[in-house]
Amino acid sequence: MILDCAIVGGGPAGLTAGLYTTRGGLENVVMFEKGMPGGQITSSSEIENYPGVTGEITGMDLMMPWPEQCQKFGLVHEMVEVSRVSKNESGNFLIHKSDGTTVEAHSVIVGTGSTPRRAGFKGEDEFFGKGVSTCATCDGFFYKAKEVVVVGGGDTALEEALYLAKICSKVYLVHRRDAFRSAPNTVQRVKNTSNIELVLNAVPDEVYGDAMGVTGLRVKFKDGSSRDIEVPGVFTFVGNDVNNQVLIQEDGTFLCDMNEQGQVLVDISMRTSVKGLFATGDMRVEAPKQVISAAGDGAVAALQAISYVDEKVSE
Ligand code: FAD
Ligand code: NAP
Repeated sequence: MILDCAIVGGGPAGLTAGLYTTRGGLENVVMFEKGMPGGQITSSSEIENYPGVTGEITGMDLMMPWPEQCQKFGLVHEMVEVSRVSKNESGNFLIHKSDGTTVEAHSVIVGTGSTPRRAGFKGEDEFFGKGVSTCATCDGFFYKAKEVVVVGGGDTALEEALYLAKICSKVYLVHRRDAFRSAPNTVQRVKNTSNIELVLNAVPDEVYGDAMGVTGLRVKFKDGSSRDIEVPGVFTFVGNDVNNQVLIQEDGTFLCDMNEQGQVLVDISMRTSVKGLFATGDMRVEAPKQVISAAGDGAVAALQAISYVDEKVSE
């Protein structure tokens, strides 16, 4: 049997793609998710920016009903890791599973997400989600009128520092050099912001705290000296790894066009450079990296996949 649509990844993007493809009439749709569906937001202790959802709920609470809603319309979840997506001679896609088997599909929607890099200092993993964060849009509000540290010297770190400076009383921007990777006008805006203090030539050494969460960060300077910054929040923006491995072909090239950061190039309809292949959520170029936008991408891609499959099977 050839699937109408194979969905790779079961986060907000993949699940929404599953809902819209099945409810929109595609019949054989399988979502390949290596773990429990829900995606990275299930690791968040609180989500308060998903429209219509009020009150204190966890990321797990938010995502819990999504798979059941999709299954009602016929989405099948297969718990397996996909190792590769390729195309065969008949113009269909092949989903290569980690158990060595393959499945054929007319269309594919990929939503395998991205993974924020860890900076690698002591206590970072222990306090992740308890004061250490990689998402200012998500967690910045918890530090309203409080002081926070931002780690990094790229565009993300500086833009997020500017965002946090509007919410927090003070932002310490810790960067390991005295020159920034970020665009010059962003650097200037940071320098002109009175409640951002630059802590340069410094690397985080250890984040520490208690049962309630983070209480401070110790940084080490190039000259060997150190400084304790007492803050309840530490935001690290040291780059992101796009989970694009499933698109890498046997010869090492990607199945579709990517940019230099390894993000999938898509148009406004989530179409990649390969017909019938769509990319959604955190893995695509210019992703806002939010649940709402990932879900939106899933819906857009699903509607496109329905048209593509309708046209293809009627040929
Ligand atoms: P993901 O959620 O990353 O889902 C991808 C899925 O694909 C995963 O389930 C993964 O297991 C699966 N997968 C990956 N590779 C394979 C493979 N080879 N085979 C099979 N399955 C695979 N956003 C907000 O809007 N508000 C918030 O408050 C918020 N807080 C956050 C807090 C934290 C701690 C984190 C980490 C993120 C937060 N975000 C928040 C961001 C949000 O979680 C992401 O933008 C969103 O989950 C992206 O959805 P996605 O479907 O693109 O990818
Ligand atoms: P990035 O450009 O790779 O910057 C990562 C930063 O983290 C660098 O300053 C790096 O220091 C620092 N760093 C890396 N590992 C570290 C560690 N272990 N400890 C401490 N510091 C560490 O990542 P990004 O800022 O996420 O940007 C990614 C890409 O997206 C870039 O091309 C960027 O231009 C683009 N982007 C563009 C915009 C925009 O156009 N508005 C916005 C956001 C992102 P060094 O500088 O010393 O290497």
